[in-house]
Amino acid sequence: MLNKGGIIGIVGGGQLAKLLSMESKKLGYETHILCDNLDFPAKNDANTYTIANYHDNEKTKAFADKVDVITYEFENLPYETLDYLSQLKKVYPSPEILKITQNRIREKEFLEKINIKTSAFFPILSKDGIDDCIKKISNYPLVIKTAKSGYDGKGQKTLKNEKDIYAAWSMLGEVPCIIEQFINFQCEISVIVVRDINGKIECFEPIENIHKNHILDTSTVPAAITKTVASNAETIAKKIAQKLEYVGTMCVEFFVDKNQNVLVNEIAPRVHNSGHLTIEAFNTNQFEQHLRAVANIPLKSIERINKAKMKNIIGLDVEEFAKKIDKANTTIYNYGKTEVRANRKMGHITYIS
Ligand code: AMP
Repeated sequence: MLNKGGIIGIVGGGQLAKLLSMESKKLGYETHILCDNLDFPAKNDANTYTIANYHDNEKTKAFADKVDVITYEFENLPYETLDYLSQLKKVYPSPEILKITQNRIREKEFLEKINIKTSAFFPILSKDGIDDCIKKISNYPLVIKTAKSGYDGKGQKTLKNEKDIYAAWSMLGEVPCIIEQFINFQCEISVIVVRDINGKIECFEPIENIHKNHILDTSTVPAAITKTVASNAETIAKKIAQKLEYVGTMCVEFFVDKNQNVLVNEIAPRVHNSGHLTIEAFNTNQFEQHLRAVANIPLKSIERINKAKMKNIIGLDVEEFAKKIDKANTTIYNYGKTEVRANRKMGHITYIS
């Protein structure tokens, strides 16, 4: 158990590290960020930070020496860095989980191994792999995704025919990819689940998500789904957390198809954008629960206290939102990013009712 005043090291300095740092103060902990660039959203919220190339063992060791326990807020971090840090301090969730979830092929194979349904998929490692895949595919559309480093729709393309596959693979740089069946879903949901060091699991009810251009636009709770769909999704999320021996908050994203099947789209081994509304909608939130798990203090049992909708503020929209005054039942979060770029998450707004 981490005593009050203990220091939680966070690798990555984005908005998730910012929100974790804000929450850690309420629990009486400090945060120390390890980040590879000087201009990062969590800068003003963390107690301290280390700027270092993630491959600089001397600096990352100095960071590890100054903290009590380590977590991370982003999955596109070098596995080697987390593995190295885990030899110096406890790292939650385990870097082995990062290794699985940061590669879509490994992630799908893991889910298949534990009998969890996903969209049908084909790993593509070479041009020969595409030829094989084409022989097995009977219906389009499909989606091609790079196995690594893709997020917010980056490294993804929808495919309508055979020709598209070769063109897209070449456009994505002929790197390892996954091709999956396009799911004509009824809706998308996510389940935020948290597991502690002793194996106790708590889970937030499913959140309904709408994406625009493959980027999360809104999240709503309660989700407009049946009790059976909700319970199936929660059972799957808990099973994944248990099989991974996960410690911390994890997000499982699902497609709900027209036949009410629940298919896992992907796993995020961290707090997640769709869980931001947990701050306003529940008696505890995904950040607090994550820190509780990492600090080895008891998780809270979860109860919803409000209905809520979260809207992301993307790119230039931030200028519009900045003009809005705080209204009752509305909370605006500005991540303080200095550079406004198209498709960049600049902040979010949560409405409760
Ligand atoms: P991902 O990065 O895999 O989470 O994809 C981002 C978003 O793209 C998803 O939330 C969906 O809205 C859409 N998408 C990705 N894969 C598929 C698929 N196989 N079928 C339908 N939509 C998809």
